[in-house]
Amino acid sequence: MPELPEVETVRRTLETLILDKTITEVEILYPKIIQMDEHEFSERLIGQKINRIDRMGKHLIIHLDHDVLIVHLRMEGRFFYHPRGTRLTKHDHLCFHLSDGMQLTYHDVRKFGTMHLISQKDYLTQGPLKDLAKEPNEIDFQEFKALIQKRKTEIKAILLDQKVISGLGNIYVDETLFRAGIDPTRLGIHITDLEVNKILDAAKLVLEKAILLGGTTIRTFEAMDGVHGRFQNELMVHTKAGEPCPICGTTIIKTKVKGRGTYVCPTCQH
Ligand SMILES: [Zn+2]
Repeated sequence: MPELPEVETVRRTLETLILDKTITEVEILYPKIIQMDEHEFSERLIGQKINRIDRMGKHLIIHLDHDVLIVHLRMEGRFFYHPRGTRLTKHDHLCFHLSDGMQLTYHDVRKFGTMHLISQKDYLTQGPLKDLAKEPNEIDFQEFKALIQKRKTEIKAILLDQKVISGLGNIYVDETLFRAGIDPTRLGIHITDLEVNKILDAAKLVLEKAILLGGTTIRTFEAMDGVHGRFQNELMVHTKAGEPCPICGTTIIKTKVKGRGTYVCPTCQH
């Protein structure tokens, strides 16, 4: 599943491909991806230029002349950029024809991805960005401490909750808690100020490094056609069950926290 660093990689890649291009035609093969009437969706998009691409949390925000297109890739959504006329395949659900003679195709095997077309003036107050939490590099210590220490739930579940903090998925929470030396089953109310600080620092560092390396390519996900991340080479615990901890040599174990596969060093994390 693409997490924040992978979505950032998609954003940067798209920026090099589709900026300043105008949408000339839209093919919709699976309308459920778009959260509105398909004729309105096409009619509004045609003739608008792609001016800027931002990211908030795991949402891609494509700024057009009058509207913004907000894309969430969910489990397996991805884009392909091919010459016009390239045959669409089974899992291609939308195809945007561009003024440079290319087509941008949205491909999604699981079909969980979403696109919202919202006017420029409303996109922060309506739709999916309305209640979006801050990212680790946007939140300050006091805010973050308040969010964690009032919760009687496992720290791992708190960090995964996108309403609390945006952009930390399963891989990056495991790596953050390992680097901070915190057992993922500890409850928020028992995390000390010093530990909150360690978690925030570790989260920022992990995400920064992952973005720098283009995200993590494990299992089936790659950010774009042929774009591979390299953060998988930096993972210290995630996917490392049975291997020695890189710090102390204790065997890393895999457990479950709230149903999510969780990798821990029983010696370093307490
Ligand atoms: Zn260890």
